[in-house]
Amino acid sequence: MTIALIAHGGAGKWRPGSDEDAVRGLQVAVETGRAILAGGGRAIDAVCATVVALEDNPIYNAGTGAVLNFDGYCELDACVMESAGARVGAVSGLQRVRNPILVARRVMEDTDHVMLTGDGAQRFARVMGFPDHDPVTPERRADWFDKRNRMDEVLGEHAHKMRRFLKEHPEYAGGTVGAAAVDASGVLAAATSTGGVTLKMVGRVGDSPVPGAGNYASARVAASATGTGEFVLRSLATRAISERVENGASLAQAVADVLGRMGEDFDADVGLIAVDDRGVPVAMHRTRDMPHAYFTGDGAVVSRMRV
Ligand code: ASP
Repeated sequence: MTIALIAHGGAGKWRPGSDEDAVRGLQVAVETGRAILAGGGRAIDAVCATVVALEDNPIYNAGTGAVLNFDGYCELDACVMESAGARVGAVSGLQRVRNPILVARRVMEDTDHVMLTGDGAQRFARVMGFPDHDPVTPERRADWFDKRNRMDEVLGEHAHKMRRFLKEHPEYAGGTVGAAAVDASGVLAAATSTGGVTLKMVGRVGDSPVPGAGNYASARVAASATGTGEFVLRSLATRAISERVENGASLAQAVADVLGRMGEDFDADVGLIAVDDRGVPVAMHRTRDMPHAYFTGDGAVVSRMRV
């Protein structure tokens, strides 16, 4: 079996000057996952290690450095899924932990449930030994103050303006992280982690923790989505990719098809990464940027800002 892993750092538009850091962070994270797979490790361990490296890097919108909600604190969403047995675990609206992806994994491994949310997710995290951690960085706090001070300009009378604003300023969101991998046994896994979108309503849950929407792994495909989650939820994008491959499409065709459909239906500002059971990695996006990195087989890691 050909091992492979691909990871993204969020669809959007990176601020000038931050591009190189974003690409370098992806390169380092994918090297971490590659070392696990190359040593005979499992896809699930590789995608989790990759996402942990990205959650711990404050430039991405996941874990430490995640964006703040309307009230000024982080509510974190994450999901991990493994093809074998369709095992899946997720958290949403989780506060004050360092690595939501690892809590999602514990939900998968240590509970009878698929997703825990809010206070319940936090309570579970503490019982599992995840200590209190404030993911808010000074940079994100300053950004939140700035946006709150320009609320009228940013939100206007209706949330429609928020949508228009996000479309015109995609750098405002972005920075979500995700990884998809296949290991030497042919098992696939995907992991996705995010702070969601800035100034989101308290309690808003996006696509990232929802299996089949922002994160999915089947026997043929593992995939992670990024961009405005409401469009990804409506499209069940990662499951849609898998279905197309199961019906005979190549992975590249399937991803292009699903992305094209989201463009037609919603003009959605989204991006997708995926890997198939033959070790083919694919990345495509409708935003200007989507930093990502990948490797396949014994090839070197390739990292870049856009396709
Ligand atoms: N998809 C994420 C969400 O809507 C955000 C992102 O990928 O930028 O929560």
